[in-house]
Amino acid sequence: MKNPLNRRDVLIGMAAVPAGAAAIAAALNQPTSRADRKVGYAIVGLGSYALNNIIPQLQRCRLSRLTALVSGDPVKAKRVAAEHGVPERSIYSYGSFDRIRENPDVDVVYIILPNSMHAEYTIRAAKAGKHVLCEKPMAVSVAECEAMIAACRQAGRKLMIGYRSHFEPHNLHAMRLQREKAVGRTRFVQSEHGFPIGDPAQWRLKRKLAGGGSLMDIGIYSVQALRYTSGEEPLSVTARESTNRSDPRFREVEDMIDWTFAFPSGAIGHGFSSYSSGHNHIRLTGDGGWIDLEPATSYSGQRMRVRRGAGEEQVTPPPGPAINQFVGQLDHMAECVLTGRDPVVSGEEGLRDMRIIEAIYRSARDGQTVRL
Ligand code: NAD
Repeated sequence: MKNPLNRRDVLIGMAAVPAGAAAIAAALNQPTSRADRKVGYAIVGLGSYALNNIIPQLQRCRLSRLTALVSGDPVKAKRVAAEHGVPERSIYSYGSFDRIRENPDVDVVYIILPNSMHAEYTIRAAKAGKHVLCEKPMAVSVAECEAMIAACRQAGRKLMIGYRSHFEPHNLHAMRLQREKAVGRTRFVQSEHGFPIGDPAQWRLKRKLAGGGSLMDIGIYSVQALRYTSGEEPLSVTARESTNRSDPRFREVEDMIDWTFAFPSGAIGHGFSSYSSGHNHIRLTGDGGWIDLEPATSYSGQRMRVRRGAGEEQVTPPPGPAINQFVGQLDHMAECVLTGRDPVVSGEEGLRDMRIIEAIYRSARDGQTVRL
């Protein structure tokens, strides 16, 4: 089956989407105060990614703004609120979170909590009548992902997953080149992601909070990349895990895992994930050359090389839809809220990855190929 994303991401790869642009212009031209014209975000969880990457980028958005905070640490929440002009009445604890329903300044709840908390807060946000942007991995099981999709559907609210690479110009350009068969017929795609993880006490190394090890956290970028660069959905997966269980970091979760996908076209995919070595790479090889991204999915500094026939070149892709992938992601969600469009990286997309992740774990455990 062809990946439907590859048709839709053509749209986000373009700066102007005529129908969407007209609808946004109409929404923005409502006779309201300037502040009211942006889509309001509540950030749930004031950890590293929220504080260093998302909250600062909200200030740079055209369609999005920060309007509320949800945190277990009232002192931190008050400080962040003061720094970003969020009124104290729009600070919530995890206990008072459901009162967000009464806050008209909040359109979208963005969940940036440990993985095993994503499902609960998505469902509570949907029940409070809010749209949801949820960090990757969408949740820690297929069953949770299905419950999240059902809750948002029932509430008539959008659900998007924080797959920022779909707003990053190098990744978008690689998808475009593959569709145009710039390096011929796809034969092999590979993607490796990993980093040496530190403190054994952190939540990423606790099964109950993380749901798994490197695959859930960073290997999910390899799963995504194999799908969006090939434009195909895997038919089956064969996986193998390698973990030193005497290492205090890996008592509960896996370190390295690698897997092979069989794609419908006959192409082969190879993915790798690690918590003990650094990797950030995507490469697609066709029968006429290759496309190589390294680093591929970092916060910035992506590099792309393309080989066609005998010629190899460093490629600068056309600019993406926004000044950076974070702003692109936030404003895409805002655009979906304003226009009724569905997010390019929807809950269903997160669910597809979770089905594959469960199959990878099953294959590694049983030592058998799993059909998808
Ligand atoms: P972090 O540890 O820095 O922050 C986690 C936050 O959750 C903290 O504010 C912490 O206080 C809060 N929290 C609430 N209950 C908790 C509990 N029981 N145990 C631990 N923390 C608890 O983590 P992070 O790096 O910000 O990651 C948060 C989420 O964002 C994860 O799902 C992660 O996968 C995702 N993430 C995505 C990207 C990306 O590039 N898209 C990057 C980093 C993290």
